[in-house]
Amino acid sequence: MDQGLLDRYGGPVPRYTSYPTAPHFHDGVGAGAYRDLLAAVSDGERLSLYLHVPFCAEMCWYCGCHTKVVRRYGPIADYVRLLEREVEMVADAIPGRPAVAQIHWGGGTPSMLSDADFAGLMALIARRFSMAPDAEVAVEIDPRTLTKEMACALGAAGVNRASLGVQDFNIAVQLAINRIQPYDMTARAVDWLRGAGIVRLNLDLMYGLPRQTVMDVLRSADLAADLGPDRLALFGYAHVPWMKRHQRLIAEDDLPGASDRFAQAEAAADMLTERGYRRIGLDHFSRADDDLAIALRAGRLRRNFQGYTADSASVLLGFGASAIGSFDNAYVQNAVPFGDYADAIRNGDFAVRRGLLRGPDDRLRGRVIERLMCDLQVDLAELAPSAGAGRPFGPERALLKPLIDDGLAALDGDRLRVTPRGRPYLRSVCAVFDTYLAGGTARHSRAV
Ligand code: SF4
Repeated sequence: MDQGLLDRYGGPVPRYTSYPTAPHFHDGVGAGAYRDLLAAVSDGERLSLYLHVPFCAEMCWYCGCHTKVVRRYGPIADYVRLLEREVEMVADAIPGRPAVAQIHWGGGTPSMLSDADFAGLMALIARRFSMAPDAEVAVEIDPRTLTKEMACALGAAGVNRASLGVQDFNIAVQLAINRIQPYDMTARAVDWLRGAGIVRLNLDLMYGLPRQTVMDVLRSADLAADLGPDRLALFGYAHVPWMKRHQRLIAEDDLPGASDRFAQAEAAADMLTERGYRRIGLDHFSRADDDLAIALRAGRLRRNFQGYTADSASVLLGFGASAIGSFDNAYVQNAVPFGDYADAIRNGDFAVRRGLLRGPDDRLRGRVIERLMCDLQVDLAELAPSAGAGRPFGPERALLKPLIDDGLAALDGDRLRVTPRGRPYLRSVCAVFDTYLAGGTARHSRAV
C-alpha cells in the first residue's frame, strides 16, 4: 500500500453507475420529456425494468438507499397500487409490446411485499409487456425478514436470481451498523431460496464499516464463499452523513482510515480470487460460468444503476419513488419524496422530476467510462474515430500522465489500460474523462 498514491488518487470521485452522474440531473427534464421518450421506444427494443420498493423493517445505519422504516403493511399495500398504476401508464405510453429481458426488484426490501402483491405485479408486467423467454428476474433480499413462504412465492412468481445483503458476519461490526444478522440466518435464507428453485445467488459484503478490521472482512468473505453464491459484491462503505442523516449514528472515530480500507478491500479480493472467483470491474466477483464473467470475456459487460450487469437491454424503465430510467439519449428520475411520487401517479401523471438529455459528447464519454469500469481498458480511437485532426482526447491524455507515471494506467497508442496496481483507483482514471466533475458541487465518497 502506497500512502502517496492514496493521498493523490484516493479522494472523492463518483461511482460511475451512469455518465453524466446523477448529481448533474436537473429539473429541466420532467414528465413531458418522459412521455416523448416512451413514445419513441420501438417494438423491437429489449427492455429492462427496475422496480423500487422504498421500505425496510429497520434502518441500517450505513444505508445509502432511498428507503424508510415501516411497521405495518398498509403503506406497502398502498404503494403496490401506485406501482401497478405506473406500470399501466408506462405500458400505455409505449407503442407496441416490446420484450422485457430483465426485471430487477430493488429497495429498500422488495421481499416485504406480500406474496399476493408480488405475484400480482409480476402478472401485470407479463400482461402489459411481452416477457423474453430468457428474461432474468432478480430480487434484493434481506435475510432477516425473508420467510420460507416468501422464498417459495418468489420462485413461483418467476424470480430466478436473488441478491442477499450480508455486509459483515462479525457481531461487533453488526452492532456498530445496527444490522444483526447471524451467519445461520443468512445460510437459512440461501437454503430457502435454493429450495424454491432460485439458484443464481449474489451476496453483498462491505468493507470500511465501523469497527471493521482486515480479519473481519477476510472472515466474512470466507464464510460468504462457503455458501457457494455464483456472485459476490464487495462495496466500500460510503460515509456521506450530509446526504444520509442516519449515518450520523455511526461514530466517525470507529471508521477505518483510508489505508485500512485499502488493506481490507485488497485482502478480501485476494481471498475471493483464491476461492475461485473472477474479479469483475471495481467491486464484483463471479464464478467463471456466471453471466457476469461470460459477458466480461465477450466484451459486453455493462454497468448501470444497479452495478455490473450482463443485461443487454437498451432501455431501462424505472418504477417507484426515486427510480431512475435510462435511454440512449437521456436519464430520467422519479420524484424522491414519497408523497410527491404518490401525488403524481394518483393524478394520472408521470412522476419524473429530474433527468438529463445526453448529447453526443456525453454519450461518447459515457462509453469510454463504461468500458474502463467494465474492461479496465478502452481503445480511445475506436470510440472516437472522427475526433478531427490529432489523436482523440488530447487534453485527457495530458491529464492521464501523472497516473501513467505512477504506474496506475498505461497508454499504448490509443489503447488506455488500467494496470493491476491501478485497479483500486479505477474511478479516479475514469474521472479524467468526466467534464462535469470540476464544475459540480456534488460531494462524493472516497475512491478507496
Ligand atoms: S435493509 Fe438494505 S435498504 Fe434497508 S436499511 Fe438496510 S441497507 Fe438500507
